[in-house]
Amino acid sequence: MGRFLSLFLLPMLLFGTSLKPFKWKDGESFLTFLERTKLPLSIYYNLDKEDQKLTEDIPYNANCQILVSDKNTIRQILIPVNDELQLQIYITPKKRYAMKVVPIISETHHEALYLPIKSLPYNDIIHATGSNNIAATFVKMFKNKVNFKSGLNPGDPIIIVYDQKYRLGKPFSMPEIHAAMIDIKGVRYAMYRHKDGHFYDAKGAQFEKFLFKIPVRTPRITSRFTKSRWHPVLHRYRAHVGVDFGARPGTPILATGDGRVTFAGFSRGYGKTIKIRHSNGLTSLYAHQKSFRSGIRSGSSVKQGDVIGYVGNSGLSSGPHLHFGMYAGSTPIDPLSVMKKKTEGFSGKERNVFLAIRNKMDRIFTQKLATKPVSRKYVDFQNTYYVDKDTFQVKPF
Ligand SMILES: [Zn+2]
Repeated sequence: MGRFLSLFLLPMLLFGTSLKPFKWKDGESFLTFLERTKLPLSIYYNLDKEDQKLTEDIPYNANCQILVSDKNTIRQILIPVNDELQLQIYITPKKRYAMKVVPIISETHHEALYLPIKSLPYNDIIHATGSNNIAATFVKMFKNKVNFKSGLNPGDPIIIVYDQKYRLGKPFSMPEIHAAMIDIKGVRYAMYRHKDGHFYDAKGAQFEKFLFKIPVRTPRITSRFTKSRWHPVLHRYRAHVGVDFGARPGTPILATGDGRVTFAGFSRGYGKTIKIRHSNGLTSLYAHQKSFRSGIRSGSSVKQGDVIGYVGNSGLSSGPHLHFGMYAGSTPIDPLSVMKKKTEGFSGKERNVFLAIRNKMDRIFTQKLATKPVSRKYVDFQNTYYVDKDTFQVKPF
């Protein structure tokens, strides 16, 4: 009997394809990955400069997938570079390996969560959403206004309005909070995300204390941050996980905030690069430098505004400029969203834009308060999607 079974099973194992998940190793370069998996290095060398640079931004621990067919042939590999784009290594009709940048298909759901305080908001939010990120952001938003350790009243409402991406029916990538409120003994505290990415209270005052400064004295932005952009001329997807400042070679580069240098060296794509880790956990990156200021090395302490190096054209750069990146862990964020703003409060057109956002969110708060609060959010998207084995794209049933 056992023999029969194995005879039936064997061909399935031999001729079937299997999809295996793996995590991107910390410190692994794209070239060493190709060597390790015995794939041709031409995959990398055939890419253009921009796509080569993109491979340096693969976050460690990225959730990758490999499709292996019979005889252990690699059919496809998918490597996400952020929550919108992924690298796809595939076999061409001429049986050669190639790579392209393709979008990650996901669905964004606008969600509003209404829950009563039971213990501490941080714990309550994790219990309800399973997301440390929402809980931590919420506490940070109100940290200067609300004492979360005392004075809370069980049953008082918390509302969080946010976007959550879903892939394969499961929450995917970081949720993005648009607004949040908490009532404490009849007093409402609310914060709203303006279009600049910062949170403000109902009067338009900014709450964040730790703020960064633009790393050049006369900034001229030549390219902004984007996780995914379709290039209409090149007909391909592009990501630019930083902000470029056009500047003459030798222009001083300033530390965006106090911190400790964690890297001062060379990488193929970014050239002479410095990374600084800041006390709020973010890391800033300064690429394509001509040279570092003498004495700057891994381990150096720097203050906001200190000169750390000079603008250049090293690495895969097409002209002198500073590529300035900002990372939360290994996830790139828009550096301009954490820069200090010159003005306090809004005026004119910008004030109207902010008030429109605030009023919309206030309406959501009111609608939500008229419903029943939840203790645990229940999401049921199971079995509504499948993954196409060849394209790896998510498709609805
Ligand atoms: Zn750049």
